[in-house]
Amino acid sequence: MLLNQKVAVITGSASGIGKEIAFEYAREGARVVIADLALDAARATADEINKTGGTAMGIAMDVTSEEQVDQGIAAVVAAWGSVDILVSNAGIQIISPIVDLSLEKWKKMLAIHLDGAFLTTRACMRAMIASGNGGSIIYMGSVHSHEASPLKAPYVSAKHGLIGLAKVVAKEGAKNNIRSNVICPGFVRTPLVDKQIPEQAKQFGISEADVIKNVMLKDTVDGEFTTTADVARTATFLASFPTNALTGQSIVVSHGWFMQ
Ligand code: NAD
Repeated sequence: MLLNQKVAVITGSASGIGKEIAFEYAREGARVVIADLALDAARATADEINKTGGTAMGIAMDVTSEEQVDQGIAAVVAAWGSVDILVSNAGIQIISPIVDLSLEKWKKMLAIHLDGAFLTTRACMRAMIASGNGGSIIYMGSVHSHEASPLKAPYVSAKHGLIGLAKVVAKEGAKNNIRSNVICPGFVRTPLVDKQIPEQAKQFGISEADVIKNVMLKDTVDGEFTTTADVARTATFLASFPTNALTGQSIVVSHGWFMQ
């Protein structure tokens, strides 16, 4: 098993990509923390993992709350000794032209993606340094960490920002064997994407089928969605990579949409 006994905190893991990563990490032997907004949803996912023979706990954590993040990571350290892996994955999407976008929505997006990444990074880096065991920090970026699309100004800005944060963490973390990388998925069919298909159809004045074919998958090599399993496999590769040779990088997992 690639992650035997490692303690992995995954934010936003009661759903979608984070949930798939949690299941895969548990299969690889990790002790998994499901950190999500609602305690009952986090616990329900943890229960599912525990029923399959894995080891998981669910905690309530709004990643924009300094208090909830610090208390949540302290509870993990108290229960399981340390944190070895952080997957900063919690996220939302907001579809709007810039001219119609409120400041409130802009700030909400940056708070969840960037404040959340900072707060969880700070708490987990402190735990990793205290344990002396180093660790792996993985940010859930997007093709939109490198590329832009209309209607997604705050999302594109936040996802680009994660690349900068990951590079700084790689430089500051190296002396303590803390690695930091970004996964940049293409479109994956999760609730986050299913919600925006009708929203984009309305904004562009096209059908939902056209949104999928001519907006979302237009630049892939084969017209295929990326899957949660594709992203989870990449997250396992990054979490289990043994040296600082692979740090400060981003990996695009997107059926060829945006080639670096
Ligand atoms: P999802 O909606 O299925 O899951 C997102 C999870 O984040 C939910 O469980 C939600 O409760 C949680 N969350 C939201 N706000 C939170 C907060 N403040 N604190 C803690 N948890 C919070 O979405 P997903 O598609 O699985 O997205 C996961 C990540 O992957 C996001 O960062 C998203 O931007 C990124 N991503 C998704 C796609 C895609 O096509 N689905 C592509 C590239 C990147």
